[in-house]
Amino acid sequence: MENKQVKCSFCSRSKHEVDVMIAGVTGHICNYCIAQAQHIVKEETVGKTTKELANQLVLLKPAEIKKHLDEYVIEQDSAKKVLSVAVYNHYKRLTQQGIKSNDDIDIEKSNILLVGETGTGKTLLAKTIAKILKVPFCIADATILTEAGYVGEDVESILSRLLQAADYDVEAAQKGIVFIDEIDKIARKSDNPSITRDVSGEGVQQALLKLLEGSAVNVPPQGGRKHPEQKMISVETKNILFICGGAFDGIKLKIARRLKTHVIGYKNIEQEQVDEDNLLQYITPLDIKSFGLIPELIGRLPVLSYLDPLSKPALRRILTEPKNAIIKQYVRLFELDNIKLSFDKAALDFIVDKSMEFQLGARGLRSICEAIMLDAMFDMPSQQDVKELKITLSYAKNKFEKSKVSNKLKVA
Ligand code: ADP
Repeated sequence: MENKQVKCSFCSRSKHEVDVMIAGVTGHICNYCIAQAQHIVKEETVGKTTKELANQLVLLKPAEIKKHLDEYVIEQDSAKKVLSVAVYNHYKRLTQQGIKSNDDIDIEKSNILLVGETGTGKTLLAKTIAKILKVPFCIADATILTEAGYVGEDVESILSRLLQAADYDVEAAQKGIVFIDEIDKIARKSDNPSITRDVSGEGVQQALLKLLEGSAVNVPPQGGRKHPEQKMISVETKNILFICGGAFDGIKLKIARRLKTHVIGYKNIEQEQVDEDNLLQYITPLDIKSFGLIPELIGRLPVLSYLDPLSKPALRRILTEPKNAIIKQYVRLFELDNIKLSFDKAALDFIVDKSMEFQLGARGLRSICEAIMLDAMFDMPSQQDVKELKITLSYAKNKFEKSKVSNKLKVA
């Protein structure tokens, strides 16, 4: 009898009008009100994260973004500056959306193209930017992409990855950052489209255009085409920031050639001091076009920057200075086993020399360190009595030479 009097404290429905009624200390709530409340909570929290993102982005000025980048990435000041401004403007544009203005000024998206030799920090820069901004981030390799219908991955698979990185929060993914690596590998082989039609490269470039310029794309949530029955998720790419990177092997020759003709064409202009060792700094969209990216795609990557080749002193700093420098990581790994690890300066110089020798940029540093540290990492955790390890030059040399890594690096 008493049960019949029970009513939802929110909507006053009685118990027999609802499926579930949950009792609280002083009242009741029905399943309808729970569902509605849940909906409100979801909306509020989504709104909040967008607002939080906006607040956070407003707080980070380009100089502050660069300062954060400095903690993780050594040198590359020019790329850092360009990136900081582009990213700031991109997210400023985002936070401005929805705010009505009287003029028709529409701030356009500024996707970025980074040109630099392998292992100079292109991926690291993009990754670090995403970390600073706390937005979803993914890396895609342009070489595995193909046109729809060919063997390989469709360009939409890039967005599947971003969705995964965002835990399938479409709203968050739509404000994320995508790094497309090896964009130079989908260049068409000739600058003149009518002579050689290199369909695979150009087709992928065309397909990428759609993503880069901003459109609603149907994305298979798990990626790939193996589950044709899966429900597609629509992702709007207009606010996704695309950062493309590539080594563009051979482009320096094109730049040099252009600089030379420029100088000959304007003989009376005093020849500027051209820094032959770092020609990438003179790169223009024209060079990218003559390398084989289609003008439409270049147009969608309006911010162009370059990375400097890493000098010996830069590599030396990379080993020890960044927040998560390789050497710091080894010290921490050993610390967890209560072993005090240290490196002699000469040993660090040796690692840098070897990396320079193999011309792998900063990429070689880790492989060389791994070769030197492997035995110690294998043996020491079982040696209870050893509490200290000092890596001297002769230790480093000895372990490096014994390992087969030098052969592997040569092949690479
Ligand atoms: P890229 O994308 O240019 O080929 P990456 O960004 O993947 O090169 O760099 C490879 C690795 O080398 C990174 O994980 C990072 O540890 C290190 N590295 C490269 N350049 C730098 C740099 N300028 N500062 C700090 N570390 C770097």
